[in-house]
Amino acid sequence: MPVLVMKFGGTSVATLDKIKRAAKRVGREVANGYDVIVVVSAMSGETNKLVGYVNDTSPMYDAREYDAIVSSGENVTAGLMALTLQEMDVPARSWQGWQVPLKTTSAHGAARIEEIPTDNITAKFDEGMKVAVVAGFQGISPEGRITTLGRGGSDTTAVAFAAAFGAERCDIYTDVDGVYTTDPRIENKARKMEKIAFEEMLELASLGAKVLQTRSVELAMRYGVKLRVLSSFEEYDPNAGTLICAEEEIVENQPVSGIAASREEAKMTLVAVADRPGIAAAIFGPLAEAGINVDMIVQNISDNGETDMTFSCPTDQVARAKAALDAAKESGGINFSELLCDPDVAKISLVGIGMRSQSGVAAKMFEVLSKEGINLKVIATSEIKISVLVDRKYTELAVQALHDAFNLDQV
Ligand code: ADP
Ligand code: ASP
Ligand code: MG
Repeated sequence: MPVLVMKFGGTSVATLDKIKRAAKRVGREVANGYDVIVVVSAMSGETNKLVGYVNDTSPMYDAREYDAIVSSGENVTAGLMALTLQEMDVPARSWQGWQVPLKTTSAHGAARIEEIPTDNITAKFDEGMKVAVVAGFQGISPEGRITTLGRGGSDTTAVAFAAAFGAERCDIYTDVDGVYTTDPRIENKARKMEKIAFEEMLELASLGAKVLQTRSVELAMRYGVKLRVLSSFEEYDPNAGTLICAEEEIVENQPVSGIAASREEAKMTLVAVADRPGIAAAIFGPLAEAGINVDMIVQNISDNGETDMTFSCPTDQVARAKAALDAAKESGGINFSELLCDPDVAKISLVGIGMRSQSGVAAKMFEVLSKEGINLKVIATSEIKISVLVDRKYTELAVQALHDAFNLDQV
């Protein structure tokens, strides 16, 4: 039997009625002749609530217990989905990560999938089970502890299962009907795309478009998984949603395909660090060891043998970044006169494979933002993206102005 993976996000399993609705879609695919692996998230809001419990109990928590707690929301929805399917006479059972077992590294809170043995689930399919309902977001470490894959990780569970089982397709059901030119909650003129290239989706995801977890796109690209994003609320349509596909399948060639915004960014500056070989390694080594996701880096011109070093990182990592830099200063590894932090910035990024062959995109972006009176704090570019840091209060204005200027509402 061909295998299909169907993933339902938090809003798609938020109530018993919604679980029933999702189960009906699963039942339809079973009737279409598939063995189905359903991956579920926790009910919407549930994971945030569990994270809150952890922080309120222990601010410097043991990451192993964090994972034991925050992974539990998915256990509930997996069981409920299996029961709902059974009520519809569809043979189904639930699987928690450790039961599969979905083996991961021991990096608690951000574990990476290492292996998904297929024999247990395949044996059940052979016995007549039609649906394996898998709790997303969770796995088991080599030490036998429960791990989680980072926020939004159920997307990655789904794609990894699709790769392991050679699934015909991996359908990601969510609360929007596809991938848009930008977050439709920020710009109501955002346009749904029929197709988007893996490389572009990878950039959009890593730059803040949370519709897919970055790692899920990486895996789909590496293993050639046919990946589709679609709404769990709309009527059934076999051609619905957005297909994430190889670049060659995209015909239109606009310079910019999409805009991502990430609000939870902070800008940090080390003032007056010695301008000598090895200084960048001495700063960013300890930050990497502390698990800080440093993104944009700018080094100022040198003055009197000293320079300022600026970088961006997620807002919730600022305290840890500060602690790591202060410790490095104390141990004599680096020297700086001041550590400045601007915690209220947002990163706005233009993404498009067309940028490889078309020039002038950066100049136009800067002009549009300057016309709106938005100051650029840091700029970074790569082959298919341009990112700027701006004051967070300008997020909507910047996205809307750029969306207009690059005519993203038009095909
Ligand atoms: P789920 O709970 O189903 O995993 P998420 O909340 O993680 O859903 O992701 C869906 C959300 O992603 C949408 O509601 C939308 O606001 C946001 N989003 C951000 N950028 C985009 C984009 N370019 N296209 C579609 N949705 C986007
Ligand atoms: N429930 C987890 C989260 O909210 C995983 C997911 O939904 O993908 O991050
Ligand atoms: Mg998600």
